[in-house]
Amino acid sequence: MPSVPETIHLIQIGEQAGAGSTCSAALDDNPWLHDADHSYGPGASIDDPLPSDAPRQGVLPAEYRQASREELDLRIRAAKAALGERLVILGHFYQRDEVVKYADFVGDSFQLAQATKKTPNAEAIVFCGVHFMAETADMLSGPNQAVILPNLAAGCSMADMADLDAVEDCWEELTALFASDPGTPHLDSGDVGSQKLQPVIPVTYMNSSAALKAFCGRHGGVVCTSSNARSVLEWAFARGQRVLFFPDQHLGRNTAKAMGISLDQMPLWKPEVDLGGNTEQALRDSKVILWHGFCSVHKRFSVEQIAMARQRHPGVRVIVHPECTLEVVEASDENGSTDYIRKAIEAAPAGSIFAIGTEINLVQRLANDHPDKTIFCLDSIVCPCSTMYRIHPSYLAWVLEAFERGEVLNRITVDEATTSDARIALERMLALAPGKPVSAA
Ligand code: SF4
Repeated sequence: MPSVPETIHLIQIGEQAGAGSTCSAALDDNPWLHDADHSYGPGASIDDPLPSDAPRQGVLPAEYRQASREELDLRIRAAKAALGERLVILGHFYQRDEVVKYADFVGDSFQLAQATKKTPNAEAIVFCGVHFMAETADMLSGPNQAVILPNLAAGCSMADMADLDAVEDCWEELTALFASDPGTPHLDSGDVGSQKLQPVIPVTYMNSSAALKAFCGRHGGVVCTSSNARSVLEWAFARGQRVLFFPDQHLGRNTAKAMGISLDQMPLWKPEVDLGGNTEQALRDSKVILWHGFCSVHKRFSVEQIAMARQRHPGVRVIVHPECTLEVVEASDENGSTDYIRKAIEAAPAGSIFAIGTEINLVQRLANDHPDKTIFCLDSIVCPCSTMYRIHPSYLAWVLEAFERGEVLNRITVDEATTSDARIALERMLALAPGKPVSAA
């Protein structure tokens, strides 16, 4: 099966069997055309506004834009060979195959965070993922290691839906509200481990800025991933009366619902309105306050797509990512992180049929890796994570050859104070083993 970029190209020139379609006509093989855009570029998140302070990629030199695929391949391999152990390349599961094939480690954000800590001798960690992942790698790596993001425009629309100012405003409102509750300890009372519970524990999804991870470290909170969200919420409820969960409302809702928390105990916090658009009583009665954020890619999956898959493929096993909506998770057979999905497919007998609700690059790779099984994406429209898609072999060749010359391009650094606070929340996360899948059924 062709890779996702090859599939998109075939669709665009009208040679894709079955005449598939993409979610944007601008999903082409020239991502540099969109580096200065004010949105995230073509794809599901093109309509999400890019924050004004988001990093922008400068002009990629013409020699890399114009190089053929074969030339880029030779140059990347030569640079890798010359750099040897001075270099490690990390590739996220959602990355395009044309880049993932050069990665020394491939995994989800949790596994790549762990991989960062296992490569203390590499001088350069080239992160083929998105901005928040590179920030995490910088915070977990040594002081003499440079973390490089090949294209600075590879951000994450979900991560940008919660910024530090908005979360601090929310925290102030919650502090004021719960401080006036008789018998409720004040926020930041520092009583973790004592008999008293904090009124609110902040929990940030890995898909968030370093500043928000640091916020959680400062306020007795923790980072979670889709692999360990349930374990993290159990950890938080041992320390607090309720959780403020950001930025992904869906992961928070799906996880909490699977733990038996009712939907009316999960108010949604809209950052632009007072009390997030909730009554004081709703917040007092809450168990999980959900930030109004989402993943544009996983939001595309629908109950109708699941019904269609079941009709066309009797016996199909439907597995979706917990960033999908609650309705989709409840209509699926199972849900779990990208690593959960991968392992479920590996463990299934030959002849199994899977409809998968997660990013298309991973689904297509799984289909190629398991030719004895039928594996397809729930969404028939080809719509990759448009931010991850910004990393093209041209950018990889550019940063590798520069590093070989002694030049560090696109280095992602997080200041010391932020790193120190964020590490507290990250180390708590790394200590919590992946929990049960977030089954909302
Ligand atoms: S798939 Fe969604 S959450 Fe993941 S990096 Fe892309 S936009 Fe962000």
